[in-house]
Amino acid sequence: MQAPRMVFNSANAHVVRFGGRAMLLHVPTTALFELDELGQTVVSRATAEPEFDAEYLHGGSASRFARRDVADFVAQLSDLEVLQVRGQERAINPGRVKVDTYPLSTLVLNVNTGCNLSCTYCYKEDLQTPARGQRMDFPVAARSVDLLLQQAAARDSISIVFFGGEPLTNVPLIRQVVEYAEGRTAEAGKGVDFSLTTNATLLTPELIDFFAAHRFGISISMDGPKVIHDRNRRSVGGKGTYDVVVKKARLLLERYRARPIGARVTLTAGTTEVEEIHAHLRDELGFHEVGYAPVTSSDNAAFALSAQELSEVHAGFERLGRRYLESAIQGRNNGFSNMHQLMTDLHEGRRKSLPCGAGVGLLAVDRSGGLNLCHRFTGSELPLFGNVESGIDGERLGEFLGRAADRTGTHCATCRIRNLCAGGCYHEAYARFGDPLHRTYHYCDLLRRWVDFGIGVYSEIMSNNPSFFSKHIEIRRTHA
Ligand code: SF4
Ligand code: SF4
Repeated sequence: MQAPRMVFNSANAHVVRFGGRAMLLHVPTTALFELDELGQTVVSRATAEPEFDAEYLHGGSASRFARRDVADFVAQLSDLEVLQVRGQERAINPGRVKVDTYPLSTLVLNVNTGCNLSCTYCYKEDLQTPARGQRMDFPVAARSVDLLLQQAAARDSISIVFFGGEPLTNVPLIRQVVEYAEGRTAEAGKGVDFSLTTNATLLTPELIDFFAAHRFGISISMDGPKVIHDRNRRSVGGKGTYDVVVKKARLLLERYRARPIGARVTLTAGTTEVEEIHAHLRDELGFHEVGYAPVTSSDNAAFALSAQELSEVHAGFERLGRRYLESAIQGRNNGFSNMHQLMTDLHEGRRKSLPCGAGVGLLAVDRSGGLNLCHRFTGSELPLFGNVESGIDGERLGEFLGRAADRTGTHCATCRIRNLCAGGCYHEAYARFGDPLHRTYHYCDLLRRWVDFGIGVYSEIMSNNPSFFSKHIEIRRTHA
């Protein structure tokens, strides 16, 4: 009888070479294995031919290894469904995901649709100037906290994120919510975590002390040095805001000791200077970490990075990533948070069947109490998923999440990073195609390359300073 023909199924395994090492990513589980010489030799032979029989894997350059050792390795690859019988190969994907419970951990409260600035690239569809902004009132916010506590019954703590517009245009509500949530969580024996992202312009010493007293997690939206920041982050009158923002950022960085402070950078058309931005925000100003959001889809196409610009951004990410690696080997985190998040994902080895926590651990409440997938959808025309009075519309949300997790007929079904990416941001898809479930494939190649790069960096840190991970990887938050 003829021996069965075998294939190396690249939908279930991917090899990354970096700095003389070779790592095998087991795609279905996201587990990483370092390949020794034998492993590299056998995998090279297996990937060199479209199909082969088992005997072939013992031949050629593999014949210098003990037959038994090669056979053991081949058996491991077969168990992992990396080597499969020709004609029976399949990409392993989760079965139909049915979501029917919603153990929320986080609610984002859109406390005011108004903002005191007028940044040119702002995506918020409900954005208004402060005078015309619509504020959430306390009864809606209190019901939101009640709903969160109800949905988080099995959790030890809850998270409340204040969002806008600019959240600091509604400080009285923030103060009321903090008092209410702390009282309610104390009664329930739970913890509560508050956070916000602000344009910083309305920060005062008193406000900073209030945030410190309640241990807020704070991020500032800031795009880099003056010449870059002022391109888009402008006042209602059209003036650059760098001078006021840097003054307030310095005040916060000097005065706030409760938690590390991050900077959130939006990269839009014409802005690709990742390293220059990092040097200013991290090295000169002293932000603890700097995260970059490259805009690849926008209601206003003029703001989306072009394909060429996106490649430049990723080249900058890789250069900054190499500096992250150097720092990590010396036991330090250089504050490049996109890289740090990727290291966290690889280290935790989580398998994602959905791209993010939107709709699962997290929902966003608009000023009227409507429940949205996440902060980016408040004010959009996407139908709501319930409201804080009547609760979550489980049927609608369950159907949405079930469809989001279904990879049938998509490129994601065989993509090697499918369990790390899981299909991409719903809001990007919504901005580009008007459908949050439409797949956005326009920068998948760059994402795959980014993950390969990250696997390389991860393997180098693991081999040179593994204690970096226990010291620096924090518990993952629902939304990065
Ligand atoms: S969106 Fe692209 S990169 Fe992400 S899993 Fe799907 S095919 Fe892969
Ligand atoms: S990844 Fe996109 S959909 Fe998910 S929470 Fe973030 S902005 Fe919302």
